[in-house]
Amino acid sequence: MRLRYLGTAAAEGIPAVFCRCPVCAEARRLGGRDLRTRSQAIVNDDLLIDLPPDTYAHYLAYGFDLPGITELLVTHSHTDHFYATELEMRCSPLAHPEPPVMRIYCNEAVEAKFHRSMPPKHNVEKNFSIVRARPFVPLAIRDYSVVPLLARHDRAEECLLYLISSGGKTLLYGNDTGLFPDSTFDYIERSGARIDLASFDCTAMGQRDGKNHMGLADVAEARERLTRIGALGAGAACVITHFSHNGRLTRPQLEEAAAKEGFLVAYDGLSLEL
Ligand SMILES: [Zn+2]
Ligand SMILES: [Zn+2]
Ligand SMILES: [Zn+2]
Repeated sequence: MRLRYLGTAAAEGIPAVFCRCPVCAEARRLGGRDLRTRSQAIVNDDLLIDLPPDTYAHYLAYGFDLPGITELLVTHSHTDHFYATELEMRCSPLAHPEPPVMRIYCNEAVEAKFHRSMPPKHNVEKNFSIVRARPFVPLAIRDYSVVPLLARHDRAEECLLYLISSGGKTLLYGNDTGLFPDSTFDYIERSGARIDLASFDCTAMGQRDGKNHMGLADVAEARERLTRIGALGAGAACVITHFSHNGRLTRPQLEEAAAKEGFLVAYDGLSLEL
């Protein structure tokens, strides 16, 4: 299984779209890996995770087959994870030939946002099938077993992270999770999952949070708990992503702090083999 990070920033990007703070100024000066677009990832070129406003830019930059993607996992309804307006373009005569039906696996809030956002013109909705992702209820998607898990984020909806297994490998992918609720740790323990790669929310960088996002100390706590329940072996990779400039570390500072914990810092375009 291959995981590719298409975007690794929180909602405002790094540099943030309208910001002049020192972290954003330094990112603009350094360029390259210091520039982060809104979070999105793709598994094996056929399972897309989240649909941020930068999806189109990711398509141009990384050349994956966006018109051919039929499986989309969505973590929650915030605009940096579900920019529904873009899906208006996924119909004839704006796309030729008429795209295949895309299944969107999501919570109730994402489904409501989808229906609110689709104009009746061109009957766009016929090109989509909404599949409700319920916490701890496995979904069979192509060759993947995908289990939605509960995150600790916006209390107004059931924000999710995903446990994805295929070919004997298991990936845990989250962003905007906070420190996972007990029910998520309990499910992972009961399931007997052995995670090969865990990708954690680290919005707050060096600061503690845990309630809506995570910082390095929260990620270390999550890793420790996953290790204790036998889900993370010594050889498992721990990666951090979904960064905000309000974490107040530049990329080199973040990489130095993360290295002390043994975490790999994701960057836009990073591809990892499990
Ligand atoms: Zn986010
Ligand atoms: Zn800034
Ligand atoms: Zn969010």
